[in-house]
Amino acid sequence: MSLVVQKYGGTSVGSVERIHSVAQRVIKTVQTGCSLVVVVSAMGKTTDGLVQLAQAISKNPNRREMDMLLSTGEQVSIALVSMALQELGQPAISLTGAQVGIVTETHHSRARILNIHIERIVRHLNEGKVVVVAGFQGISSLGDLEITTLGRGGSDTSAVALAAALGADRCEIYTDVPGILTTDPRLVPEAQLMEEITSDEMLELASLGAKVLHPRAVEIARNYGVPLVVLSSWTDDPGTKVISPAPQPRSLEGLEIARSVDAVEFDTDQAKVALLRAPDRPGVAARLFGEIAHQDLDVDLIIQSIHEGNTNDIAFTVSQGILKQAEAVADAIAPTLRTHNTAKPEEAEVMVERGIAKVSIAGAGMIGRPGIAAQMFATLASAEVNIQMISTSEVKVSCVIDAASCDKAIAALCQAFQVNCSPVRLPNTQQPGATLNSSSTHNSLRTGLPTSGQESLIFNKPAPTTPNSPPVRGIALDLNQARLAIRHVPDRPGMAAQLFGCLAEHNISVDMIIQSQRCRVINGIPTRDLAFTVSQVDAEAARMALQQEAPVLGCGEILLDPDIAKVSVVGAGMVGQPGVASRMFEALAQHQINIQMITTSEIKISCVVAKEQGVTALQAIHKAFGLAGNQKIHVPA
Ligand code: ASP
Ligand code: MG
Repeated sequence: MSLVVQKYGGTSVGSVERIHSVAQRVIKTVQTGCSLVVVVSAMGKTTDGLVQLAQAISKNPNRREMDMLLSTGEQVSIALVSMALQELGQPAISLTGAQVGIVTETHHSRARILNIHIERIVRHLNEGKVVVVAGFQGISSLGDLEITTLGRGGSDTSAVALAAALGADRCEIYTDVPGILTTDPRLVPEAQLMEEITSDEMLELASLGAKVLHPRAVEIARNYGVPLVVLSSWTDDPGTKVISPAPQPRSLEGLEIARSVDAVEFDTDQAKVALLRAPDRPGVAARLFGEIAHQDLDVDLIIQSIHEGNTNDIAFTVSQGILKQAEAVADAIAPTLRTHNTAKPEEAEVMVERGIAKVSIAGAGMIGRPGIAAQMFATLASAEVNIQMISTSEVKVSCVIDAASCDKAIAALCQAFQVNCSPVRLPNTQQPGATLNSSSTHNSLRTGLPTSGQESLIFNKPAPTTPNSPPVRGIALDLNQARLAIRHVPDRPGMAAQLFGCLAEHNISVDMIIQSQRCRVINGIPTRDLAFTVSQVDAEAARMALQQEAPVLGCGEILLDPDIAKVSVVGAGMVGQPGVASRMFEALAQHQINIQMITTSEIKISCVVAKEQGVTALQAIHKAFGLAGNQKIHVPA
């Protein structure tokens, strides 16, 4: 008999009527011969209401008491859903997180799940009952068995964690939208429903999809290979499947991995091409990458940051084998960007570098955790590795370094993040006999894997591609970020570590970090600018913190621009497929939208543009990738 976990969100259980229809759907599933565990959220906006109540009593309510309060919302729904089932003749029993034995850390209001005791649930299932479990809550293991909550939106996480622990055949997340859409339908009415998405893509689209599916739930689904589907509780439509790599044997101990980094990756087969001092106007990146794509050349990292004056440096990496061709393209374009026929010091020019390597840390656990990037930079600094370029995405931080430093960088990172040093090959670059000695291979290798008593696992593969994986699956727009830049950061190991360490100390989560190519010598010291984005609410605090720290470190001014938008395309199918970046840049150029910054990971490209152009940018890119459709998607207000 198959076992299914169904989760119903707040709107799905928002009224007596809706609870009845949930009960009917549950019974329909039981009638197909399944055993069923049902996880529910608090009714409607109950949790928001409770938060408001608390704030009316106290400006800074105690976290323990908050958990005590907020966990009541789900307790109401489980009882009602259970009654509704019993009313229809279906044996059912409701259980709180504590009664199930959903054991969490003690961190109130954001506890991670450590383990789930399944014995009681299994017993009730065997008695023929539907087990209705309160989402979003657990119980601490130590001492007093305190009630904890998992953080807002955490019922998804409860459901997927239960599915993982029970080895369920599938986990269905019922919500008030038909599934996961290609972009925000309030901004782009032509947004379409995705049939499927990989969990890696879903994580990179966190800013688009987090409201529909909690990133921590996606992380668990990926790590345990839980078949997951997001679907509407109003219709019988199939929804969106979230596809994960084949499950690996894995202990349930430390279920929601407490670790922020799952893997250290490196690639020594890289070379860098930089187009220096290109004019800062729409269309330059489109032209460069358009021509590169035209030659069928595949680009890996692309980095463009902000600079003084009105020029940009656009740097990208390619595998060494195609360096010559990529260089030729850049060489042909550079003169056309000059106002004079001969290169003057302040005009466009091409620079190429061979002996470089890319090292990255990857892991979904870094979402919302300040200080992971800083820890990477600090680790590289203490190994005396200088960082030439930095590029980040939601779940990855990549640094370009000198190839000669690659081995010591990997060793230091594996140690710092407790990652096992035995290499695991990326799926598409299998080569027998490769060893950890990075100089002995020109392939991307992945070192992997937790050592804390768990089986070795491969996480965050760039492309657990489904057969017809499109180059771009979805597009996200983030209008809630601000950009900061630190001018003239001395180019030596340890600077990024100290600057981002300072932000982490202030508990500020940094989103995209870009350190680009341009090096400027000031008083005999080579310097680079560092730019990054943070959530708008943190921007002022970040500026103040850096204003204190920067002069001590010999850095220049701090600049803050709150009026930016970040638009990102995500797709596992872009790996090894030339032309995705150029299509994105071309769409922006056609609308005269200037790109201020670019950063990439294997399956994501993000651009920062002016805020007032954000929505136009989103619409243009969505259309350019042929994602628009004419199926009307109903979304609740
Ligand atoms: N009720 C909780 C919230 O509103 C948990 C959830 O719905 O997922 O955040
Ligand atoms: Mg939710």
